[in-house]
Amino acid sequence: MDDVTPKLLDAIQNDFGDLLSKNRTLACIAEKAKYGKVTYKEAHTYAAELGKILSQAYSNHLSSETLPDGKMYFNIAQRILQPTLGNNYELASEIAMQAQKAVNKKAKIGLAVKKPDLNQDKIDGIINRISSEDNFDDASWILDEPVVTFSQSVVDEVLKTNADLHAVYGLHPRIIRTTVGKCCKWCQSITGVYDYPGGAPRDIFRRHNRCRCTTEYSPNGTKRQDVWLKKWRTVPKSALRLNNDISVGHSSGAMFKNAYSVKLPDGRYARLAGGTKITKIKVFAGKGTDVPIREANMLEKAYHYKAKDWEKARGEGIIRDEGENKKAELHWYQVGKGKKKEIVKMKVKRFMNES
Ligand SMILES: [Zn+2]
Repeated sequence: MDDVTPKLLDAIQNDFGDLLSKNRTLACIAEKAKYGKVTYKEAHTYAAELGKILSQAYSNHLSSETLPDGKMYFNIAQRILQPTLGNNYELASEIAMQAQKAVNKKAKIGLAVKKPDLNQDKIDGIINRISSEDNFDDASWILDEPVVTFSQSVVDEVLKTNADLHAVYGLHPRIIRTTVGKCCKWCQSITGVYDYPGGAPRDIFRRHNRCRCTTEYSPNGTKRQDVWLKKWRTVPKSALRLNNDISVGHSSGAMFKNAYSVKLPDGRYARLAGGTKITKIKVFAGKGTDVPIREANMLEKAYHYKAKDWEKARGEGIIRDEGENKKAELHWYQVGKGKKKEIVKMKVKRFMNES
């Protein structure tokens, strides 16, 4: 008997390609992704749409009439479903990763977007289910909604993979799950905004057939990042003239301490003496020099400014330590210009012999 599989696969892939190129929703979202403007909600729409057109392409060519003995044998199911579902995974994860990239950029998260592994178990589940049926027509629904659900799950997996990564790096991801249309009670019960992973329900990424719920990285999480960054920005205003002397104010308080506490050679921390200046400032590594900063990637991860923008600088200042003013050579990292300049990780390189 002729092997019908290559012909069927070919026809399905052709139809899928046609439907893809004619679909305005897909084209529009892909275009937005190209310009870094796509959202997770749109990624879900995109994935669901991919699922629908793939399911359409299946039903155009698969039936009890076209399949040998009217059923989809395991080996046929595998050779047709594996590459086509795998293709949906590639397309859906690409758009979802663009959505995550946009989130990261807005929140100034310097981590690269991670691609989730293909969920082979889900594909195997569909293959096993359809090939266990004696009559394809009675079970053709398996290549309908479950294919849409599979495609949308890819978006959930991109979100989960990256939220997990952010949590590992000490960020505070939040995830929103929203019901779309009239979903079931179960879905309504897990709708909400959650700190992830700690505060989230166990099933936050689960979906049943016909579930169009969306999951996304919370923009509130984003806002929180901004607030945190502002804290770093607000204080050192007087200190902000690039490579001019840095005046040390008299104010104290938590933010002041953050910006100006100085690590001493013995590991303790002290403050710059109020009302003094840091002078003879010179940038000696990083941006604009030939010397790379070894810790640049660490700085990017910790402070969300790009690794390439950091400068390492030195200058002379007065440290207030154990009731005494001590002159010291100081080293620190800085980034940004004017009012947005940040100074971090200041330390005493050596004490100088005068007070
Ligand atoms: Zn749902």
